[in-house]
Amino acid sequence: MSYRFCPLCGRPLVPVRDSGDGRERPGCPTGHFIHYEGMAAAVNAVVFRGEEVVLQRRAIEPGRGLWDLPGGYLEKFEGPQEGVIREVREETGLTVRVGRLLDARAGTRSPVLVLYYEAEPVDGELKASPESLEVRWFHWRQLPWPEIAFAGAREVLRAWIRERFGG
Ligand SMILES: [Zn+2]
Repeated sequence: MSYRFCPLCGRPLVPVRDSGDGRERPGCPTGHFIHYEGMAAAVNAVVFRGEEVVLQRRAIEPGRGLWDLPGGYLEKFEGPQEGVIREVREETGLTVRVGRLLDARAGTRSPVLVLYYEAEPVDGELKASPESLEVRWFHWRQLPWPEIAFAGAREVLRAWIRERFGG
């Protein structure tokens, strides 16, 4: 989503040369405002116990009906580990201890930077949320690869399995 009007004075934005890096961006002709289109930040978690990983089946688009890692967008000023704990609790009912940062990838369809963390449950019962049709543990050898919604999640999971189990 882009701004079309200056949020300070309401004039339509026009292409302006940004003196910082010389690139053209939408800006107020008075010089009030330049619109930087950056990326949102999100977290995904590889929640595991022993040889099993939690996936949730998405209730919402994109990828409705497909499996995904638990995760979501960070709230304003929220740290990534806190975001993992909140999102995993909301989507799976599990309370986790957050481990290593596994990877960081830019989205391909949405402007979002996704941080992937390892996490282990310390409390709670597996329970689907309104955002998921189902949540369950999968043995790493039985992950539903063709039904995992996003390439980023598949690639991070494959690398994690290779490193952890040599599989
Ligand atoms: Zn303005």
